[in-house]
Amino acid sequence: MLLPKKGLNPKQLFNFFQETEKADTKWNSGKLFGYVFDPTEKYRKFPEKILLKYYHKSGLDFTVFPSLLKIEQEIIDFSIRHLNGDENCCGSFTSGGTESILLAVKTARDYTLSKKNIKEPEILLPITAHPAFHKAARYFGLKTKLISLNKDLKVNLQELEQSINQNTIMIVGSAPSYTYGILDPIPDMAQIAKKYGLFFHVDACMGGFFLPFLKKLNIAIPNFDFSIEGVSSISMDFHKFAYAPKGSSVILYRNKEIRKYQIFSCANWIGYTMINPTIQSTKSGGPLAATYATLMLIGEDGYIKLIKKKLEALKKIQNFIKNHKDLTLISEHPIPLLAFTSNTINIFHIVDEMNLKGWYIQPVLSYENFKESIHLTINYSNVSRIDEFLIDLEASIEKAKQLPSNTLLEKLKSFMDQIQKNQINIENLVQEVIKKLEMKPNELPKRFAPINEFLNILPIELREQILLEYVNFIL
Ligand SMILES: *Cc1c(COP(=O)(O)O)cnc(C)c1O
Repeated sequence: MLLPKKGLNPKQLFNFFQETEKADTKWNSGKLFGYVFDPTEKYRKFPEKILLKYYHKSGLDFTVFPSLLKIEQEIIDFSIRHLNGDENCCGSFTSGGTESILLAVKTARDYTLSKKNIKEPEILLPITAHPAFHKAARYFGLKTKLISLNKDLKVNLQELEQSINQNTIMIVGSAPSYTYGILDPIPDMAQIAKKYGLFFHVDACMGGFFLPFLKKLNIAIPNFDFSIEGVSSISMDFHKFAYAPKGSSVILYRNKEIRKYQIFSCANWIGYTMINPTIQSTKSGGPLAATYATLMLIGEDGYIKLIKKKLEALKKIQNFIKNHKDLTLISEHPIPLLAFTSNTINIFHIVDEMNLKGWYIQPVLSYENFKESIHLTINYSNVSRIDEFLIDLEASIEKAKQLPSNTLLEKLKSFMDQIQKNQINIENLVQEVIKKLEMKPNELPKRFAPINEFLNILPIELREQILLEYVNFIL
């Protein structure tokens, strides 16, 4: 792009955005099972107004904008009550689950290293732990050790305990984990953490907000919050099932002695003294204020209404899958995260076919002995479209049956030999894939099934490298 010599008028400019966004899935159509949590217009409009009203205020310095400090304290106070914390608990508002998790890991590291002499700190992650923990480990120079699951898809506690060594600083549990929507046995994990004096983070990015409402509906949910001794910190997102606009999460700690290690303070430059509780420095006050607006606008009765509707929708989809001869439901539970697979159909084609009909459902690659699957996160805007969704899903399944599989794999046969012999040059391979699929920079493929089928049979490390090279190519 070139900067126009003379600025354009807003009308011309608006056309540009309208044209460009034609490529996007319609975010407020109720047809996305993921990425967008839309409470529909009734609960979206007012927070949008507040988002804009506070957008230009900077959270860099709350002495200039004390309202941001007050609003943050209110949100933290709510969060602590919501998760059964006591008067010693504390926390910070962040830009999202990833920032909350990065901070938790950094805090766990620095808190632990202030007490113990550990050369190569290591964190224990169930294979269901969110990639943000791997990101934190890579950013902050920590080792990771993965822990496998039992048949019930919860972390294997024996393996967890046996994996602890003198370098271990932290263990992580999810409430629930994203893909299958299953809660780890947090009370048992907390016991292990206590026994060995380890920092224990509960990732409740997804569940922290809505699980307490399920309890209010008398649905049995295992404990996962600060009521359990041994839980050191909890992350909870508002930009998911709390329906706040994006850029909204909290990281909470058992006490300020721990939280101290999160805060960055720097006077070692020629300039004003910099004190950042979180990762961002300049940050908009918009998401914070809009989160407060969303919580207060929807209220307890509103959230209970939304979750009830989601559970009805969930049940409908679960029943459809259970009664379908080609589909298998991976886990049945009253949590609006669902995954299913198939022993007879190429699920990657189902995803593409649904995409052509304007839906977004998420393909998940195979992992160890877990088969590839499709994940759905059911949010309130999906509720009114479930019947239509199931009709299109059935049609997509029928269509998928007729499509050829492994078209890209056939074309890459010569490379597969090299992969097997471990002599692969990743850059060459990616170039070959790009050529075979006739892809261009800044252009996305129309169908992802050929790529997904290919990635699906590769070792994890190769997948990571190939995707990295590919993204480096297209961006
Ligand atoms: C969404 C999510 C995260 C990461 O949050 P972002 O807001 O996408 O950065 C972490 N853990 C779980 C379980 C999540 O669902």
